Amino acid sequence: MGSAVLGEAISAIRDWSVSREAVPGSRAGETFGSLVFSDAEQQKRLPKNVYAALRRTITQGEPLEAGVADAVAKAAKEWAVEHGATHYTHWFQPLTGITAEKHDSFLNPTGDGKAVLEFSGKELVKGEPDASSFPSGGLRSTFEARGYTAWDPTSPMWLLQSGGTVTLVIPTAFVSWTGEALDKKTPLLRSMEALSTQALRILKLFGSKATRVIATCGPEQEYFLIDRYFYLSRPDLINAGRTLFGAAPPKGQELEDQYFGAIPDRVLAFMADVEAELYKLGVPVKTRHNEVAPSQYEIAPVFENANIATDHQMMVMETLKRVAPKYGLACLLHEKPFAGVNGSGKHVNWSMGDDLGNNLLSPGQNTHDNIQFLIFCAAVIRAVNRYQGLLRATVGSAGNDHRLGANEAPPAIISIFLGDMLTDIFEQIEKGGAKSTKAGGTLDTGVGVLPKLPRDAGDRNRTSPFAFTGNKFEFRAVSSNQSIAYPNIALNVAVAESVDYIATELEKAVAGGKKVEDAARELLPKIVKEHKRIIFNGNGYSKEWEKEAGKRGLLNLKNTVDALPQMVTKETVALFEKYKVLNEREVHARYEIMVETYNKTINVEAQLTVLMANRYVLPAALEYAKQVGQSVAAVKAAGGKSLEGKKLLDKVTKLTDEFKKRTDKLEASLDHSAPSAEKHAKHFRDVVIPAMAALRQSSDALEAIIPHELWPLPTYREMLFVK
Ligand code: ADP
Ligand code: MG
Repeated sequence: MGSAVLGEAISAIRDWSVSREAVPGSRAGETFGSLVFSDAEQQKRLPKNVYAALRRTITQGEPLEAGVADAVAKAAKEWAVEHGATHYTHWFQPLTGITAEKHDSFLNPTGDGKAVLEFSGKELVKGEPDASSFPSGGLRSTFEARGYTAWDPTSPMWLLQSGGTVTLVIPTAFVSWTGEALDKKTPLLRSMEALSTQALRILKLFGSKATRVIATCGPEQEYFLIDRYFYLSRPDLINAGRTLFGAAPPKGQELEDQYFGAIPDRVLAFMADVEAELYKLGVPVKTRHNEVAPSQYEIAPVFENANIATDHQMMVMETLKRVAPKYGLACLLHEKPFAGVNGSGKHVNWSMGDDLGNNLLSPGQNTHDNIQFLIFCAAVIRAVNRYQGLLRATVGSAGNDHRLGANEAPPAIISIFLGDMLTDIFEQIEKGGAKSTKAGGTLDTGVGVLPKLPRDAGDRNRTSPFAFTGNKFEFRAVSSNQSIAYPNIALNVAVAESVDYIATELEKAVAGGKKVEDAARELLPKIVKEHKRIIFNGNGYSKEWEKEAGKRGLLNLKNTVDALPQMVTKETVALFEKYKVLNEREVHARYEIMVETYNKTINVEAQLTVLMANRYVLPAALEYAKQVGQSVAAVKAAGGKSLEGKKLLDKVTKLTDEFKKRTDKLEASLDHSAPSAEKHAKHFRDVVIPAMAALRQSSDALEAIIPHELWPLPTYREMLFVK
């Protein structure tokens, strides 16, 4: 069976390379944004006053004026219909982690047997999907199932081309009848608003004319690509997104010959196609490369406003999955599809910019004198220290538990890497005042013909969960599979709180006659002293760091069950309430859904493990035992001894017995009820997961001796290396 699937995959690869078309995307410049109802398109099609009003809403956050929606609906419909659209959909991000859409036709019967294409402002602004089947964490009881989608004018509409149809997609927020947020976009927008309001107070003190501050975000997405035949032959990949069985291959990633290696032909064609699709949708993808594990890759866009970046990030994940089958591939976004090789994450690069185009986290040349930068940077340090638990909780999931704390991903302890230059400046500040900025100088390659390269003031650190990388912070504990909304929300609101604190202090001092720079110079050492424990520039993978972090009193939440309660501590709830990002009920709803999701995920994985154990692995093991038994019997019948054969038979039988016992034990562990979701989660973590791990060990031992022809599943060696 194994070999049959391998054969299919090999012929698919051959067919593909024979029939290969020209790589699309070569005229990306021309097609960029062609499927987006873009600013240019809006300007062309909207009456001048409507366009101006819409721009004010988009760039300044002003409330939408009456009449604007009708005009926009009309123009958007005309544009969409010209491009072949027949339907529109309110696209939203419920609390499940994926996006949701319900398509409605533009067609309206006129009563005389005819129909016209219509789309009103009312239909653009508000939709009412039957909300009862989306998780609400108790925010909405099923008998009051009303939920509304509300147009987000700040994120552009686009056209979904799929299955030969074209649909106008309208990014929306999703709220309950009482106005409570049932989605991720609503709190994200609220958190961006809070950050803007607070950051402007500081900018104003420094004499800036900016009228808005925007959280910016650039997420780097890691993923695996394997042949679709293998994928379709693995029930675990189809239903759990990761392999629940699978012995380590003789060659893994130890030769380190994959990272940034040449990209295989078929994969490159896939990447180019994905990029071409995303360009059309206005998603500015820029970078592609091989990642560390075999068959692992990365795609990254240029950063954008955090709201749009979050929408675009969902589109990136959907596009990766949708395009892969065209190339006979399957895209795996799970955090750990394969044990023993690196998992996948998503580095969320985050900063703040103003509407004049300045990056507030850009250190400039004489950083020690750039007081405004130091203040904003100190605000981030303070925020991450105070709300490390919240940040940790936003990246907690069953899948990410396989990564965080393992030696390939950031540790579960949240800390900040600042690099030499900034660390030095903050140390000077603590001692009484920063007088100088360490320079990087130039790099000497020792080869005359090579150009002289400017050297960064510090090296990189790959082991930090939260690193300053030049002019932005990079939150690396985020998982490959999750929406980036929660990490962004947490950063925005936590930093807003610190900026609020700093602004209040500075305003007081300035009102008392102090110069803002002097007031800031006085405040900075205090912040550094109180919050420097979060700064760590060393090796985050080391045992020593775990000890040291413990001494510093930093949280070390090793798994989701331990991390999630940090979402609902008194401090976190107060933070969300103070800045009107989420009320207490809304925070608790999200927490409950995250716990439930953890439980459901492990439950599915465990059920699937039992199913595959009984129906795939066990029959193969019994068959092999039978074959060996027959061989031993035949040798004996012919007068031989078959001593080694008998030993092998004993080994197979013993392993098989143990395997069956462990299967039954796992199955029994699932027969469990608990008084609360939290208790249930602990049972999954402490009993079910170890039982799955033990069973897998037996299976992987069997896989190592059962003949290729009998083994019912594609192996790691095949999945990761046949490209
Ligand atoms: P790295 O520093 O990780 O090697 P890049 O410098 O290419 O890589 O940046 C990685 C990501 O960070 C990209 O998506 C990039 O657009 C994003 N980024 C750069 N500047 C900012 C910023 N000011 N705010 C948010 N993201 C940013
Ligand atoms: Mg990076």
